[in-house]
Amino acid sequence: MPLVAVIPKPNAPVELREVPTPELETDSALLAVELSEVCGTDVYLQQGRLQGVPYPLVPGHVSVGRLSKIRGTLRDVEGQVFREGDRVTFLDVHHTCNACWFCLVAKATTRCPERKVYGITYGLDDGLCGGWAEQIYLKPGTLCIKLNGDPETFMAGGCALPTALHAVERGDIAIGDTVLVLGSGPVGINAIILSLMRGALRVLCIGAPALRLTAAAEAGAGEVLNFAEHNEREKTEWILERTNGRGADVTIEATGAPDAVVQAMRFTRDAGRVVIVGQYTDHGPTAFNPHLDLNKRHPPGRARLLGLRLLTFLPQRAAHFRSGSIGAMGRAQE
Ligand SMILES: [Zn+2]
Ligand SMILES: [Zn+2]
Repeated sequence: MPLVAVIPKPNAPVELREVPTPELETDSALLAVELSEVCGTDVYLQQGRLQGVPYPLVPGHVSVGRLSKIRGTLRDVEGQVFREGDRVTFLDVHHTCNACWFCLVAKATTRCPERKVYGITYGLDDGLCGGWAEQIYLKPGTLCIKLNGDPETFMAGGCALPTALHAVERGDIAIGDTVLVLGSGPVGINAIILSLMRGALRVLCIGAPALRLTAAAEAGAGEVLNFAEHNEREKTEWILERTNGRGADVTIEATGAPDAVVQAMRFTRDAGRVVIVGQYTDHGPTAFNPHLDLNKRHPPGRARLLGLRLLTFLPQRAAHFRSGSIGAMGRAQE
């Protein structure tokens, strides 16, 4: 009877429960948990800030352990067969169908209606599917990877590491860029390290509290600013003074505060890049000026290009405009 830590419902204290050891389906396994993470998301799950969560919930979406029991065959991405006793971690995202409209047409697997996430959208009713437990049930099709290194070092990156990796890729950080990271939590600090690895000239960080800003500087941030001690005008001046009056080339928002999304746009240079990764859970709405904050800042280059393209084919399509049969254009292009 493995012991698990359960969030019974939003805003209720975490409680310990004993649950039956599951029957293993073919090609599934039991993982004896060594380490699991307390992510910021887990705090928000306890506060009920994410929709569609099937409480009661065993949180913990990044975990490390040893395969204590395997039924059937489990392989890693290289095709290697796992053995009982192997130390592994696994991808928390499970069951993406690769057959629905979102998976196949939109290539947006995060919107797949079949998609499940261990510790977030698999509840206790789905089995032992969270890391705050003595055992995790790895359902068939769970993607595992063998861990040869020190598990504590791996867990130090936590789920913030892949989140930050995604952020620097989406930010398309180039050699010589000045990157601004908003937030000095685990995602922000990982983003600082990975921005420098991608060739950023320097990384500035606005965050809090002081202890985390010290960690941000140790991770490589050239300069840091405590957001709690400065208003938006002072923060803007701080950025502009350090970027020849332009703003950061790339800003990565990793705060969780809705206002920071707007500030990210204002702290970034014209035609720069803004990546929002801190808004996984619902902290309410915010307001911005679509003309000043978006259109004017992150400008009409693409719109102009599209306009030029339009001019190149417009003469041939003039008949459609005259006849009002614009709807036929799609067919005419085929
Ligand atoms: Zn997480
Ligand atoms: Zn799908």
